[in-house]
Formats: sequence, structure tokens, C-alpha cells
Amino acid sequence: MKQDSLEKRILQGLIDYLNDLYPSEIRLVQLLDPKILPQASKKVEEENWLFRSFLKEQDSEEVDETVHYLHEKLFEQIDCVACSNCCKSITPNLENEDIKRISQYLGETEKEFTVKYLLKNQSGSWVFNSSPCKFLTPNGCSIYEVRPKACREYPHTNKPEFISRLIIMIENASVCPVVYEILEKLKSRYTEEFRDYLSFMSDNW
Ligand code: SF4
Ligand code: SF4
Repeated sequence: MKQDSLEKRILQGLIDYLNDLYPSEIRLVQLLDPKILPQASKKVEEENWLFRSFLKEQDSEEVDETVHYLHEKLFEQIDCVACSNCCKSITPNLENEDIKRISQYLGETEKEFTVKYLLKNQSGSWVFNSSPCKFLTPNGCSIYEVRPKACREYPHTNKPEFISRLIIMIENASVCPVVYEILEKLKSRYTEEFRDYLSFMSDNW
């Protein structure tokens, strides 16, 4: 019983916070410095998990339209070479095709490349054996033309079915300023609906 009332108070606090904070239209803002992203995303993490539950019930195509628009607009504002935060903090999975292509580019056999640069993670996928990535230079990726598919596609915000990847998006909000901002802007886009959802949850908990 005590736990219920605490949860209700947290939800009510979030409703008040959202009422005060978000305008109804999408506005573009300064993207956050990657250095402060872990702190900033931690602050909104609880809200993001609630927002995930809400967003999963929305029209997937409509969410994609907004996310793809934001992806275009926000990536126009950021220099990925200057940021490079994904290359510094997470490691991509490498497919066999990636290994073949990159080792050829480097003039190494696949075995030499694998021993030198890769290891298998807990799920059995090949990943780079160091973070930051060994191929990251002050001028960006030294194997840019042949970089792994996962690097080319990161942070996956221009793909269909955004709502099927919300767990990874919430995790990536602490890595990629664009992902962080997309989630924030989505909350603005759905302010009223999200507020109603939280009220409903609060009343029915
Ligand atoms: S291969 Fe290139 S793009 Fe991929 S993580 Fe390394 S430096 Fe970044
Ligand atoms: S994809 Fe995101 S984290 Fe990676 S360099 Fe671009 S803005 Fe930074």
C-alpha cells in the first residue's frame, strides 16, 4: 500500500513536470554536449521508461514520421566527426561481410584481422576488442569507406518501426545526443497524450 502511494506521487510529480515543461510543438534546440549526456539521460531515465510504455501503444507509422523528420533535422546540426561519442563508448557487432571487407582493405587475412582487432562478446557476436575504437582518429574513422554495417546504421533512427527498438534507444540516449533529443522531442510531440496516459496509470494503480 505504501509503495502504491509512492508510485502515485511520482507519477503526479511527472504529470506536473510535463505540464510545465513541454510546449505542444516540436522545436529544435542546441544538442547536448556528449560529455554531459550520461548525467542528463540519467535524470530522465525513469520518465523515458514510462514514455516507452506509452509510445508502444501509439501508431507506429505516425511515430516513424516524426522520428525520421527529427533524424534529418538533428543530424543537419551535428558534426559526427567532432562528436565521435559512439566510436568512443560502444562497440559495434561485426558481420562476416564486415570482417571480409575490412581485412581486405587493410591488406590482412581475415584471421590476422580477427586476432588483432576482435573478440567475441557474451552473445557470441564479433565486436572490436577495444573501446574507444582503434580505428578512431582525430579526423574521424580511418576505415570510413569500409566501416562495419552497424557503424553505418547507428543510431538506427532513420529505420522503420522505431517503437520496436525503444529499449536500445533509451540506452543510446546516454551515448548519442541525437537519440537523446529525439526522445525529448517526441515527449513534446505527445505531451497531452502522455499526460493523459500518466493520469490514467495513476488513477488505476
Ligand atoms: S569502425 Fe569507424 S565508425 Fe566504427 S566504431 Fe570504429 S571508428 Fe567508429
Ligand atoms: S551518431 Fe550520434 S554519437 Fe555517433 S558521432 Fe553521430 S551524433 Fe555522435
